[in-house]
Amino acid sequence: MSNHDTAPEQVMASLFAGLSRPEQMALLGRLESTGARLYRAWAAQEQNLKAREALLKAASREEENGDLLRLMTTAKESCEKCRKPLPARSDAHVCSFQCTFCPDCASAVNQTCPNCGGVLAPAA
Ligand SMILES: [Zn+2]
Ligand SMILES: [Zn+2]
Repeated sequence: MSNHDTAPEQVMASLFAGLSRPEQMALLGRLESTGARLYRAWAAQEQNLKAREALLKAASREEENGDLLRLMTTAKESCEKCRKPLPARSDAHVCSFQCTFCPDCASAVNQTCPNCGGVLAPAA
């Protein structure tokens, strides 16, 4: 099989191969935003009202997914509780949603995220 026969699915898979989980999430988030724009463009040309509505709903879902992935991959640079700056990533304690706390605030809440109830662990 020559290179230009490569299926788009394979190209996609190879984009994700070898990336860390946060890198994969950030990449998929960007693709979801692209997807949302496509759905909106199709919706704008769609004459059938019900079909247009369905396309707009699909666009919103893609945007929601993109927002979630952006949230989960965007590190914050200060403690959400005491606002102490955390320029060194290694000082931060974070949950899966990247809620970010300084070590003092994290231990004050027993390493449990006050926003989502998840475990706060030292950021990698
Ligand atoms: Zn703090
Ligand atoms: Zn959280």
